[in-house]
Amino acid sequence: MPELDLIRRIRRLSGSRWIGDDCAVLPQRPGEELLVTADLLVENVHFRRRTHSAGDCGWRLMARGLSDIAAMGGTPRYAFVSLALAKWAGEQWLDAFYRGLLKLARRHRVQLAGGDLTRASITAAGIVVLGAVPGGTALRRSGARPGDIVYVSGALGRAAASKWRDLPEPRLSLGRYLRAKASACMDLSDGLALDLHRLCLESRCSAAIDEVPVYPGATPAQALTGGDDYELLFTAPPATRIPCSLRGLALTRLGVITAGSPGRILFAGRPLAPAGWDSFRRINPPARGMTELK
Ligand SMILES: [Mg+2]
Repeated sequence: MPELDLIRRIRRLSGSRWIGDDCAVLPQRPGEELLVTADLLVENVHFRRRTHSAGDCGWRLMARGLSDIAAMGGTPRYAFVSLALAKWAGEQWLDAFYRGLLKLARRHRVQLAGGDLTRASITAAGIVVLGAVPGGTALRRSGARPGDIVYVSGALGRAAASKWRDLPEPRLSLGRYLRAKASACMDLSDGLALDLHRLCLESRCSAAIDEVPVYPGATPAQALTGGDDYELLFTAPPATRIPCSLRGLALTRLGVITAGSPGRILFAGRPLAPAGWDSFRRINPPARGMTELK
């Protein structure tokens, strides 16, 4: 199918009124700051043709972008999706991919506003999500201070335990709720051990945790290093009241931020290595559902 027909097809599927010009012309609202995030989903790195459906790939790509907006306390507005398609990814794959992606986008009122298409030797998809926060209220990784309490939403190890079958839900309403509460926040894309280490590096502090909420069926190791959970990891001053759950989503107290060498994490009193998903490392922990690929 020629590119113009493919674009027509995507336009029809998405019902987008933004696609058609060289750029999307988007309205701006006064008093807001723009949030912009980019993510990739690459065949044989993040997904495999035989084991991951096109619809799941679309959903996951959108979930990764929206989760970054959630981590900053923002509201997502527009998405730009670019695709490099290998020969095996035909029209059916393309349709199912966009259906998965648009299902999650519609749930959060995100509009597909553009992208690019090309043929390639492997299939890869990239997303850019534009979101917004009221000026000066974006949550960052760098705001944690010694004495702050460390929390996480949901239960960890879900993606690893379900071999990637369970689809992640970006925690957008929790992120917005945390704008007035949290001192620091990030989403868990690569595993708690590695992501908490990153948050502590940005905040120039250490953390001591005692408890991790483990998803039913997952091992404690999967909960610590499994990755792809897309829950929110956040800190709040000890005087700030954080409920044990928000609209059915558990919020668990993991431990406390401490002064000390930046990035150092203690789990039950012992040093915790910053292990997790890192696509530039040759060996990743066996917890991840993608291990079968290597
Ligand atoms: Mg992130």
